[in-house]
Amino acid sequence: MTSNHDKRRMPAESAPPRMQALARLPVFFALHGKRVFIAGGNAAAAWKAELLAAAGALVDIYATDPCDELLDLATAAPAGAITVHRKPWECGAMEGCALAIGAIEADAEARQFQAAAQFAGVPCNVIDKPYFCDFSFGAIVNRSPLVVAISTDGAAPVFAQAIRSRIEAMLPSGFARWAGAARSWRSAVKQSGLSFNGRRLFWQIFTRTALQNPNAEPSRVDFDTLLEKTHAEAPAAEQGSVTLVGAGPGDPELLTLRALRALQSADVILYDDLVSKEVLDFARREAKHMLVGKTGHGPSCKQSEINVLMVGLAKSGRRVVRLKGGDPMIFGRASEEIQACRTAAIPIEVVPGVTAAQGAASRLGVSLTHRSAARRVQYLTGHGESGTLPDDIDWRGVADPAATTVIYMPKKTLRQFTDRAIAAGLDPQTPAIAIANATRPDETVVAAPIDELAEAALPDGPTIVMIGSVCAMTQTSHSGAGHRAEQKIKMHSQT
Ligand code: SAH
Repeated sequence: MTSNHDKRRMPAESAPPRMQALARLPVFFALHGKRVFIAGGNAAAAWKAELLAAAGALVDIYATDPCDELLDLATAAPAGAITVHRKPWECGAMEGCALAIGAIEADAEARQFQAAAQFAGVPCNVIDKPYFCDFSFGAIVNRSPLVVAISTDGAAPVFAQAIRSRIEAMLPSGFARWAGAARSWRSAVKQSGLSFNGRRLFWQIFTRTALQNPNAEPSRVDFDTLLEKTHAEAPAAEQGSVTLVGAGPGDPELLTLRALRALQSADVILYDDLVSKEVLDFARREAKHMLVGKTGHGPSCKQSEINVLMVGLAKSGRRVVRLKGGDPMIFGRASEEIQACRTAAIPIEVVPGVTAAQGAASRLGVSLTHRSAARRVQYLTGHGESGTLPDDIDWRGVADPAATTVIYMPKKTLRQFTDRAIAAGLDPQTPAIAIANATRPDETVVAAPIDELAEAALPDGPTIVMIGSVCAMTQTSHSGAGHRAEQKIKMHSQT
């Protein structure tokens, strides 16, 4: 007999998740020394002229009647230059410009302006007339050379301004100095003799230092210190490493900060089927994703192949994240992977995650322990090495009325499990809950005394079964507060 358990699957590279639809593409124009064309001489034109000149542009303004603000500005441009031509705009003057801006009231003229810009091949913006614009200006947070721009695609400028204020408050002004230092150190780092990984490490230490000392004035001494630290830490960075990361039960908000950091600095991510797409979305975009799924019932990659792949990648200098559902140390075969790394002298770190039982307990509002009703929690698997109910379960422990038992991988063997437990003294009326896809939008809960639950159709998806008097303490309906998931609860009543 071949069970699904025996079906083979090879580790497969999977494409990174596709980008969500993007309302606008943010691009950052380098305008230094380039000509920009402005038609119109009102206050809005003056503000755009100032902005463009601040970016280093040579701004040519065509206006028969320029406002005083504009004339003042022309004598004191923040950078670049501002020239006012006291005449109407004309198509010919647009040629060779990087951008064309119109401060134009009448739609007919705006249309002409856009057509002229298009003819000259110049991207165009008519102020406050989105219909005649090829691009828009974002709300700006200026820590040059660090620049943040915010757009709502014209949907909510007030919202964009509020977000801008928040980002303003979040980004210390000293970041401008650090970003400036980065610019001036860039070529020295390139020529420092550091390898690619070493240079990346330099910039990681730089970033750490900047975030910790935002208001410091970075100096030559800082540069030398950063370089020294990099040389000290480089041998480890060259080496490659493995981090076993707990992805939690599905809701990405349950990731730890350390898991997030590991995901964002990974070169390769080896992940299981159990890991939700929403968690994978947090990974560094450049990281290679490889599905090395082991589903219990579906086709599986061999553990030995996963170990070889993981160690091989780390040996070639990659930072490997081995991403596992829940907590890596609970029914995750972590010990085999840790051992494989130790044998190959690969540095290994473990980042814990929220295990399915903890995720489920939080969603159900059920404490797994209770001072008088549940003094002990035990996690068991319903799926032994051969795919059948493990033979060596402590049945008297399962029958203990003061214990909470959580069965992982319960589906194929729940009836058998229940019979053995009842035979060992478990009360058939002990409250029990099956919860599938805990913490995910499609979470499903079935509650019934254990003897009945064993007869019920268990929901689709990864499921655990919880047994014990604490299961009677769940709510039967969940109303909103903090719960994003729609939860379906079925009660199996005795008949
Ligand atoms: N390391 C994981 C368990 C891996 S074993 C953890 O700590 O949670 C795989 C089993 O975990 C599944 O068969 C199922 O029993 C359980 N499981 C994982 N995620 C789950 C979820 N979101 N809801 C319910 N059960 C889950």
